[in-house]
Parts: sequence; structure tokens; C-alpha cells
Amino acid sequence: MGEAKGFLKHPRQEVGHRPLEERVHDYRECTLPLSADALRQQAARCMDCGVPFCHAAGCPVQNEIPDVNDLVYRGSWEEACRLLHATNNFPEITGRICPAPCESACTLSINDSPVLIQHIELQVAERGFERGWIHPLPASDRTGASVAVIGSGPSGLAVAQQLARAGHAVVVFEADERVGGLLRYGIPEFKLEKRILDRRLYQLAAEGIRFETGVEVGTDLSVRYLKRTFDAVCLAVGARQPRCLSIPGAEQSNVLLALDYLSAQNRLCTGEPSEASVPIDAADKDVVILGGGATGFDCIGTARRQGAKRITQLEIQPRPPIERPASIPWPQWPRLHDELAASDLGCEQRWNVLTTELVGEGNRVEQVHAREVEWEPAGDRWQMREISGSDFTLAADLVILALGFVHAVHDGLVHDLGVRLDERGNIRTDEYQTSVPWVFAAGDAVSGASWVAGAIHAGRQAADAADRWVRS
Ligand SMILES: Cc1cc2nc3c(=O)[nH]c(=O)nc-3n(C[C@H](O)[C@H](O)[C@H](O)COP(=O)(O)OP(=O)(O)OC[C@H]3O[C@@H](n4cnc5c(N)ncnc54)[C@H](O)[C@@H]3O)c2cc1C
Ligand code: SF4
Repeated sequence: MGEAKGFLKHPRQEVGHRPLEERVHDYRECTLPLSADALRQQAARCMDCGVPFCHAAGCPVQNEIPDVNDLVYRGSWEEACRLLHATNNFPEITGRICPAPCESACTLSINDSPVLIQHIELQVAERGFERGWIHPLPASDRTGASVAVIGSGPSGLAVAQQLARAGHAVVVFEADERVGGLLRYGIPEFKLEKRILDRRLYQLAAEGIRFETGVEVGTDLSVRYLKRTFDAVCLAVGARQPRCLSIPGAEQSNVLLALDYLSAQNRLCTGEPSEASVPIDAADKDVVILGGGATGFDCIGTARRQGAKRITQLEIQPRPPIERPASIPWPQWPRLHDELAASDLGCEQRWNVLTTELVGEGNRVEQVHAREVEWEPAGDRWQMREISGSDFTLAADLVILALGFVHAVHDGLVHDLGVRLDERGNIRTDEYQTSVPWVFAAGDAVSGASWVAGAIHAGRQAADAADRWVRS
């Protein structure tokens, strides 16, 4: 452990952001890194407590957080970088966009502010790229086995990198034009600039991974071809079946799925042609976003940058708590509401609201009709009750559905492979192996829509399982 009682001496220093007036006019990242000296002080706050809950209960990839902190405190950055990569293929990505359950699980957070774990991770990874410590590590021996990875999101990329380093020939098939899954087409540029992803992809390609993009496996390639060509397959196809809105008017032309909206803007940011069939520009429009989760929030940030006239976000559930509630005790991760985040972006958020109808003319929505609801306990569940007389109407030029995803897409590949599904429609696995023995699966396709860190960890585990299978 670095500095004894450092946590008593140094308060937590938050990461800065570019001024709001500046950052809402561009799509560049918002955070301003701390200086090396400040970071060393932040690392010194780590208590090296006996059981590191940040590592054991918080971090989905199980980063060796106290040791990384100690190495940063001692100035051994290269060693810290190596240690981070022992558990996490892409710390420069989780260091930017992970919801950081490690910090909720930090022992200091019981009665103080947690260690600045995520920003330390980010800075170690960034220094690793700057100094050339992160470079291609191609396998020295080849096994002669070949594995196909379907999908190039974080789980597919982690599977591919682990298997290539184990000496297998790896081909990643991706339906989209470019590699990255939701890292490229979902998560907005202002949270994760795509040059950060491309920098890492260079490493993967140099390690011998072959990327075949624009190939939808199941349509452009058959299961028979996969079986004939590869020793094993890993499905990392994500949970891409969107949750639909079954109310009158939902099929009109200015009602967009959040992912279509966000991916069109991401394509615009990087100069890729967009497939959007309707204009996706929110400039001067009344924008109504249905869905109060993280994806809805990304839509707020995008609509603000596009110059929306008015942004309203409606959510059927109650507002999340502002502080950790008693029902989610330490070290669990609570989803908290940041009171300022949306209002700073000029968005009005309304909770406990049921959208009842989208009304318009000529295939275009002009009004969103909605009603307030309340939630009452009913046994071990909550029951919704509509409040009579609470109906209201909002003007809308653009309606964005950010209602989440239900499970992996079943039509095509998943159906053709005949892999078993669980009761929620996700791919069922036993130790990352599906019911079809030569087929493995990882990421959101197995867990349902989740987070990047979990997808990376699952990818690493699935790679281990597939490696054992092809060697057996
Ligand atoms: C808008 C948005 C913002 C998010 N923000 C964050 C965030 O800030 N932090 C965070 O931790 N998580 C975030 N997430 C969640 C995170 O992106 C996902 O949990 C993660 O990307 C899942 O990784 P994956 O590899 O399992 O799947 P995906 O990233 O979904 O990748 C699956 C890939 O498989 C491809 N594919 C599917 N079927 C086929 C086929 N038949 N043939 C070929 N290719 C196929 C798809 O085209 C896709 O590229 C966000 C999600 C969304 C939608
Ligand atoms: S991956 Fe997420 S949980 Fe793990 S150390 Fe990084 S920010 Fe924390």
C-alpha cells in the first residue's frame, strides 16, 4: 500500500469537464484529465483494505484495483498498465464509459467519497498508448485451430483477442460496415470518440485477427459453412431486439428507435454514409424521448448538440433516487439520478408518465398524448395505477424510442444454429458453451442488455472455454 492514511489527508478530486457552453457545440469528449501529481494523490487515498470489494464485488472484469492504485502512487505506471491488461482488454474504454460499480463498492464510500478508480484506470491506459507500452502481442505458436467470432462489439473483440493470443486463427464476422458493435454505432462520440476504438483495433489486426465486415452470418453465410470451416464459433451478437411501443401512432415516419438515431449521428461524426431513411436532425425541433434510461440520456445529449428547440423525456417508472437507498446497501451499485445532468442540457424529465398515443397527420407525429401514473405495492411487486384527469399533450416533431432491448435477435443465425434460449429469450449457456457443443456465446446475447465491462469479461471467459474445447 502506498501512503498510509492517505485517505485522511487527500479529499477526492472530481474529474473536470469542458464548459457546458463549449461542449454542447461539438461531439468531442467532455472530460479534462487530472494532472499526474493530482492523480498520485488520488491513488494514495486507496486504503488497501483487507477484502478489496472494489475488485471482488464491484468490478465486472475484476481489475486488481488496490495494486493498480499502489503502482500509480509509486510511479510504476508501466507495471500498472500491464496489470490492468491482465484482466481487461480495453481499459481505455471502460475508463471512459463504465458506470464504475467499483467506486460504489469502494470501502471509503461507506462514509466518505470513493477512490477515483475509473479515472486512474483511464489515465494508466492512455499513458500506455502514449509511451508504446500497449502494442501488438501476436502469438508465438500457432495451434492450427480456427474460430469464428460473430459480432464485433466489446465481447466479440475480447473473445477474438484472447483466442488469437492463444495461437488460434480467428475471423470476426460483423454485419455492420465497420467493427465495434455498440462501441461504434450506439455510444455517442462525445462519450467515446471512435478514434479511441480504431487505435485499439489496429492492435487486434496486427495480432492476426481477420475482420470480415458487412457480412450477416445466417443470411450471407450459412451455418453449414461455419461448421465446415471452423473448429468452434463464438456468438457475440448482442441483445439487439428492440422493445417496441404498442400504442396507436407508433409506426409514423418521425418516430425513431434510439439506436437508429444515435448511430446515424455517430456515422455523421466519422463521415460514414447514413442509412437513415428520415432526417435525423433535431435542429429547431420539439423532441420527445420515451424512456428514462442511459440510452435516453445519450439521445438528450445528441439532440442538444443538434440544436433541438425543446427536449422532453418521459419515463413510466418513478425517478431513481438521488442518494443510495437503504434497499441497495453497500457494496451494491445503485442507479442514481443526477438532478442537474438533464436540466443542464435543457431537457425536462417527467417520471411516472404513461404515453398513450402519438397523434399526427400525413404519417408524421405532431403530438404526444400521455397520462400520469402512480405505483403501489402489490405483494412483492409494484402495480401501476393511472391517475384520472392527469392527461397532457406535448408538441412533437421528433419522437425517439429509448425503451431498451429485450434479447438477442432470434431470426436467422440463432434460429439456424438451434441453440437453446433461456426464459427471457437470451442464449442459454453453461460455462459459456451453448446447447450446441461447438458454439460458445458471450456478452449481451447471453446476459441481456448490460454494460461494456461485463461484455469484455464474458468475452474473456468464453475464449477460455472455446480454447479448452478446440484443444481437447
Ligand atoms: C446507446 C447505448 C449507449 C450505451 N452506453 C454505455 C455506456 O456508456 N457504458 C457501458 O458500459 N455500456 C453502455 N451501453 C451498453 C453496451 O454498449 C453493451 O452492453 C455492449 O456493447 C454489449 O457488447 P456485445 O459485444 O455483447 O454486443 P454489441 O456491442 O451489441 O455487438 C454485437 C455485434 O454483433 C453484430 N451482429 C449481430 N448479429 C450478427 C450476425 N448475424 N452476423 C454478423 N454480425 C452480427 C452486430 O452488428 C453488433 O456489431 C450502451 C448501449 C447503448 C445501446
Ligand atoms: S472496469 Fe468499470 S468497474 Fe472495473 S475498474 Fe474500470 S470503471 Fe471500475
